[in-house]
Amino acid sequence: MQHFIEKMPKAELHVHLEGTLEPELSFALANKNGVVLAYETPEALVAAYDFYDLPSFLAIYYAGMNVLVEEDDFYQLTYAYLVKARSQETIYAELFFDPQAHTSRGVSFDTVITGIHQAQVDAEKKLGIKSQLIMCFLREMSAESAMQHLELAKPYRNLLVGVGLDSDERDNPPIKFYDVFREAKAMGLKLTMHCDVNQQDSLIHIKQCISDIQVDRIDHGINSLESEELCELIKDKKLGLTVCPVSNQFVVQSLTSVEIHKMLKKDMLVTINSDDPAYFRAYLNENLVQLQKEGKFSQEQIVTLVGNAFKVAWLDDATQNGYLQQLQRYVSEHS
Ligand SMILES: [Zn+2]
Repeated sequence: MQHFIEKMPKAELHVHLEGTLEPELSFALANKNGVVLAYETPEALVAAYDFYDLPSFLAIYYAGMNVLVEEDDFYQLTYAYLVKARSQETIYAELFFDPQAHTSRGVSFDTVITGIHQAQVDAEKKLGIKSQLIMCFLREMSAESAMQHLELAKPYRNLLVGVGLDSDERDNPPIKFYDVFREAKAMGLKLTMHCDVNQQDSLIHIKQCISDIQVDRIDHGINSLESEELCELIKDKKLGLTVCPVSNQFVVQSLTSVEIHKMLKKDMLVTINSDDPAYFRAYLNENLVQLQKEGKFSQEQIVTLVGNAFKVAWLDDATQNGYLQQLQRYVSEHS
């Protein structure tokens, strides 16, 4: 089963580029840019990854970003992730980035997006991995700041496929960003938002995402299982849910295999993703392999989970069908 999973053609829909910053690259960039890190070695840095909830993770996560300064730093970050993803047979990825985490440190929007985009172009050409970019807003920052960044993104509209919302969910409901997401939709961008696991007001936030913001997808969204109404809404609207098992384990001490089984049973379009793989020490293959072991998922269920990611990806029908056929070919050759 592990070999079957590792060699499958896969898609990743929930990965934060800043969360793919490996300790070794972090130290190399810190040296180059004269940034002082709080730890002496990459091993010591990893040893400090002791998260138990969202805020404890975010504190370490934002401190880590200080090493990203020049355009080439963003290029290296993105290219390294795409190399790693391709080595795991990920053939398509939708990538989150958080421009406010960089502009707030004096790094220009152009520096960030140009570096990322160039790496995407090169990786598609050289490695054969296609990717699209989703600009996320930091929800603890103001709606005005989010709107300013949407304005900054307008000259780069064609480099983006959608917008998202992430970071500290407490007291930062989806509705706070109603105007920003209306404007993004008017620009033709797809919409997604994080509804992290076990957050305060989780069900209210999920409802707002669906009914007020009218998202095209939900990131995480596990708590929707607590409401039959929300499950039905998600199914009716065929909304994909990007679940991240190893990330969840830091909050709920399980890979949420029970919940993922329930979603499959309800025919919800649940997908498996890595979230912040450098910090959680697990890329997409590790997420799938560990999840399969915990939940004893059948090969057919794993294929459904991987197929769902292609189905809810923001792609044109022809490209999507091409990927699904590639997956089907793999399954018939390896079953
Ligand atoms: Zn996330």
